[in-house]
Amino acid sequence: MQRGVVSDGERLRALAARTEVFLLDMDGTVYVGDRPIGEMKGTLAAVRAGGRRIVYCTNNSSRSAASYEQKLRALGLFDARDTVFTSGMAAIGLLRERYAGKSVYLVGTDALKAEFMAAGVPLAETEEGAEVAVLGYDTSLTYEKLVRINRMLVQGKPYIATHADDVCPAEGVYPPDVGSFIQLLKRSSGREPDVICGKPHTVMGRMLTAALGVPADRVTMVGDRPYTDIRFGNNNGFSTLLVLSGETRAEQVPRLPASDTPTAVAESLNDLAAYL
Ligand SMILES: [Mg+2]
Repeated sequence: MQRGVVSDGERLRALAARTEVFLLDMDGTVYVGDRPIGEMKGTLAAVRAGGRRIVYCTNNSSRSAASYEQKLRALGLFDARDTVFTSGMAAIGLLRERYAGKSVYLVGTDALKAEFMAAGVPLAETEEGAEVAVLGYDTSLTYEKLVRINRMLVQGKPYIATHADDVCPAEGVYPPDVGSFIQLLKRSSGREPDVICGKPHTVMGRMLTAALGVPADRVTMVGDRPYTDIRFGNNNGFSTLLVLSGETRAEQVPRLPASDTPTAVAESLNDLAAYL
């Protein structure tokens, strides 16, 4: 795989030529807030026209895949062949693989609980009798839930986190995300998660490539955050495209560590359209 920062067309051309599946981050990559970035609708149509697949890939486990699909559709960025994959879905895949049939105490939103139940994961009402603890981005988090999951961690039960972002991108001040909850529980229980599923970790990459039936070297991850999106691609053997339409500025690119250095850089995903 090519490495190093080159924003010239040859890198984008080569990347487009070998890619069968584009994994797309959302905020900062295809839209900012509620606005698609530039001519994104046309760019994505060109991606699909070449027979390539689009999978939207997010760490946010507070919302269901269906709610993201709805938002993307409203912005004109979702086609019937596209799919959404969340860190919550990666956690479901991991539970099936390692803890099939075990009862789970899930700290998560009602949307995440509904996804787990629809996938056949047995959810326990409380920590009593639960065999596996799963920590999601619970925007309805309560002290009682913290007490309950903390008990399981102290008892040494398997501990899975959907992802580990410290904060969640939002208008104004970014609110605390799972990474911040992890730090709190580390102080109270002494434990860190046994497995973290989302970007930049390999569980999500493994679940995605298995679900897509495509080799890793035919996959390109596109995102605006080097330490989650790009590191995720690099950790999983995907090509990576860093877009400067979100939280990374051009002057930061030369200083990125090797783990977060992309295959190619573009002002936005729209730059790819000319090479598809
Ligand atoms: Mg982003």
